[in-house]
Amino acid sequence: MSADVAGAFGAGGSALDLEEVTPAKESLDLRGTIALVTGGGQGIGRAICRRLAQDGFRVIAADLHLSPSPANLDEAVELEPGITGRLVDVTKPAQLERLVAWIESNAGPIGVLVNNAGTLRVSPLLKLSEKDMREVFEVNFFGTFFCTQAVAARMAERRRGRIVNIASIAGKGGRPIFASYAASKAAVLNLTQSYALALAPSNVTVNAVCPGIVRTKMWEGIDAALSALEGVPRQEPLRRRIAQIPLRRAESVDDIANFVSYLVSPMGAYITGQGINVDGGLEFH
Ligand code: NAD
Repeated sequence: MSADVAGAFGAGGSALDLEEVTPAKESLDLRGTIALVTGGGQGIGRAICRRLAQDGFRVIAADLHLSPSPANLDEAVELEPGITGRLVDVTKPAQLERLVAWIESNAGPIGVLVNNAGTLRVSPLLKLSEKDMREVFEVNFFGTFFCTQAVAARMAERRRGRIVNIASIAGKGGRPIFASYAASKAAVLNLTQSYALALAPSNVTVNAVCPGIVRTKMWEGIDAALSALEGVPRQEPLRRRIAQIPLRRAESVDDIANFVSYLVSPMGAYITGQGINVDGGLEFH
């Protein structure tokens, strides 16, 4: 074997003399920092809030609607032990900047951002209106973009942080009856990759989680719209789709929360730029 080839395989040569970077322990273990979860008022977002609070994060659930509700944008309420609620509209960058500035000066550094707020419209594609398309992109895509812009530079400066975007398996393939949603989630998956590359040199990871079919208020709405479109009784559209899941059950909100917990723990430190399906086997790419 020539010296060059031996070197290329690391047998005493210098071809793989890359600098080893071992991140400091405190940059891997983010417990004790703030976890900001958008859309944390209900559903998957609330389950993520609960799980991260159990994990030792101080959690801020930011949502358009909360119960109990703060009186205004500047008030905070305790929703549950370890979970503080703040009102925010993720489509409004100025509100997000204000929220993030308040958190960092009053509560502490944001170590984890979960972009979970989302919305969906059911409409056959050829009847889909511009308004519906724009509204869905405003929340799902621009909401993720605005919130990440408000937080990421601060994380990068500290060289410490994890960002998790809740996308969807719908972002991995066309969906003619909720095309606006599928397109917005595909855009979120691509944006996740760009942020991951931009922030990797600063030791900040960015990933997306793609749920399948989770029985939340969002799916209640989808089921109602599909039952009208398909002319079948309520629950039937959901039942048919659950029957197609290889694991033969709907996904629970905790299935998602558990994986988010993993991604933001020290165990998730070497994962970045991925769009990972947590869907019972529905999608393979
Ligand atoms: P949900 O409708 O129960 O909760 C969504 C939350 O987002 C609500 O609390 C809502 O008030 C909040 N929200 C909406 N617009 C907002 C805005 N402009 N500003 C702030 N908050 C806003 O839905 P869910 O099922 O819990 O969905 C959570 C996330 O998971 C969404 O991003 C959704 O697209 C994604 N997802 C859900 C499923 C599913 O089957 N339920 C599947 C794949 C992906």
